[in-house]
Amino acid sequence: MRFIFKVLVLGIIYLFATFSHSQINFKQLRENMIKEQLLARDINDPATLNAMRNVPRHEFVPAKMQPYAYTDNPLSIGMGQTISQPYIVAYMTQILKLKKHHRVLEVGTGSGYQAAILGQIVDSVYTIEIVEVLAITAKNRLSALGYDNIHVKSGDGYLGWPEKGPFDAIIVTAGAEEIPEPLLKQLKEGGSMIIPVGPHNGVRELLLITNKSGKIKTKAVMAVRFVPLTRKDN
Ligand code: SAH
Repeated sequence: MRFIFKVLVLGIIYLFATFSHSQINFKQLRENMIKEQLLARDINDPATLNAMRNVPRHEFVPAKMQPYAYTDNPLSIGMGQTISQPYIVAYMTQILKLKKHHRVLEVGTGSGYQAAILGQIVDSVYTIEIVEVLAITAKNRLSALGYDNIHVKSGDGYLGWPEKGPFDAIIVTAGAEEIPEPLLKQLKEGGSMIIPVGPHNGVRELLLITNKSGKIKTKAVMAVRFVPLTRKDN
């Protein structure tokens, strides 16, 4: 009898939780995010704002995190990894000054959210994730949501994706200890790379790297915290 009672109570809680999730107005939360977290700061690039408005961020986080998908925070996506705070995603996108015809490389697919944002702006996105199960999940999620200009592969993004390069822009969404040489080689002349660099246990600097007629220029634009860029042999 007690068992049946427990099952009933749990069932009611489950139904309530499912029902309340489906009642959340994600579109409204997304609009608030744009107003309060992006426009209120320094995000003003129309293409970036449009992408942040279109992509359903809540579809990229585990079900229990969905109510928090549009808060001003990074969120856990499992396997010890995180999806960056909306502002950081927008900031890193905006700074690359992307054009429709650009070919972009992302290192650190994670949930696939940043790749989906990029894919709204440019023709083709190539993204690499070192944790195979995350790569597979992101690939399935992106195709289920109809984002068909994003190519996901599992591997060590430190090495880039030479067969698909060179790239107009490169975005690294895991913290590196130094700028990976192979990525510099895969950056087109006139191209830009944004990458968090610094010690694994501390604050890193977000570096904007530009290749102007073969001359590499580096500029620190913001202090940030990111999960580490790992290597296959570590
Ligand atoms: N851009 C992601 C979040 C990135 S979190 C999103 O929008 O959800 C950082 C990701 O980088 C993690 O998933 C981690 O597994 C991955 N990563 C770490 N080192 C890597 C490497 N060498 N190559 C590719 N991916 C790496």
